[in-house]
Amino acid sequence: MSVLSDLEARSGTTCELCTGTQNLEIFEVEPVSISGVDSSILACETCRTQIEDPEQMDPNHWRCLNDSMWSQYDSVKVVAWRMLSRLKSEGWPKDLLDMMYLEPEVLEWAKATGEGIAEADKIIHRDVNGVVLQNGDSVVLIKDLKIKGSSQVAKQGTAVRRISLDRENAEYIEGKVGPTLTVIITKYVKKI
Ligand SMILES: [Zn+2]
Repeated sequence: MSVLSDLEARSGTTCELCTGTQNLEIFEVEPVSISGVDSSILACETCRTQIEDPEQMDPNHWRCLNDSMWSQYDSVKVVAWRMLSRLKSEGWPKDLLDMMYLEPEVLEWAKATGEGIAEADKIIHRDVNGVVLQNGDSVVLIKDLKIKGSSQVAKQGTAVRRISLDRENAEYIEGKVGPTLTVIITKYVKKI
């Protein structure tokens, strides 16, 4: 069975957020370590568009979360939590959020994208020029880098692809230099 057919089976081929039936597609709930049914939901185009573009949010559409927040599937609950967090200032989403209970590890997953955290408290990684870095970006070293735990030095100008951000600290990213995964300080890289 494919992920799509598994999702269709569990949802009855409806959007797992709003029960819509138009243009249903797999929506992967970031961050995805293993792609599959457990880290995905089936979502309609209306929901997907608004999840991905906060500018296009129609708060009334998300009244559907009143029901879907009680889904038995963690991936659905995580998206419900994120959307309610995003809409908190409307009032009613805050009431729903207060009723919601997520297991600690599910709550951690829900918080991983920074949704619901005040802009000022968000951990934002920036390169030497102040350009915002995202997971999966490529950077180039602007300074020789000693690889921790080895005698190897990565030369200035070395490209590091598919970096990952340290969730706790805006100064650090991780990336592979050659075969070695190493911690790199953001002010010594430039986004490419
Ligand atoms: Zn939907």
